[in-house]
Amino acid sequence: MTRKGRSTPAIYVWWLGSGPSPDGLVASVGRHVEHVFGLGAAVWTAPDRPTRAFDPLRGQHSSTRILEWLLEQGPAEARKLLGVTDMDLFIPILTFVFGEAQLGGRASVVSAARLAPAGLVRDDDRLLAARLAKEAAHEVGHSFGLVHCDDRRCVMSRSASLIDVDVKGGGLCHDCWTRYLDLRDQPGGRDE
Ligand SMILES: [Zn+2]
Ligand SMILES: [Zn+2]
Repeated sequence: MTRKGRSTPAIYVWWLGSGPSPDGLVASVGRHVEHVFGLGAAVWTAPDRPTRAFDPLRGQHSSTRILEWLLEQGPAEARKLLGVTDMDLFIPILTFVFGEAQLGGRASVVSAARLAPAGLVRDDDRLLAARLAKEAAHEVGHSFGLVHCDDRRCVMSRSASLIDVDVKGGGLCHDCWTRYLDLRDQPGGRDE
């Protein structure tokens, strides 16, 4: 990932999956969020993994608990923290989520579990890489304070299914981009 002229990257991408890091996949997520948001991104490779996120009754991981964990464990210099995992994520009211973010906060998480064709997370899977990059950008967009967009081609449009994910593009529509520029430059936006 390039960091042209930027001293520290703003967005830290951290593999939090069950197995070894699919490095190609994680790097492509980093490059994509860097491109969409015009900020430097870096891969963070600490070996720590979220604790207390697994719900034995549901057999899934709580995305909200992962966000809490990211805030506790993530590097302090990161403006935005993006966890990438292969664990199946949920929030209580939904059977699963592709990801979750704190709206206008620092932490977000995205999962490959429901995006992988046939449920198999492979480093060289281009369809998975494209889907994961879109949903990662979507969650990072939320963490900058962007809300859902009605333009189905915009990366901030809601994804309830894989069809929604595949229909949308990887970038922000003009309106979301304009809103993002305002949000990005808001004073105090670094510390929420
Ligand atoms: Zn969303
Ligand atoms: Zn939009």
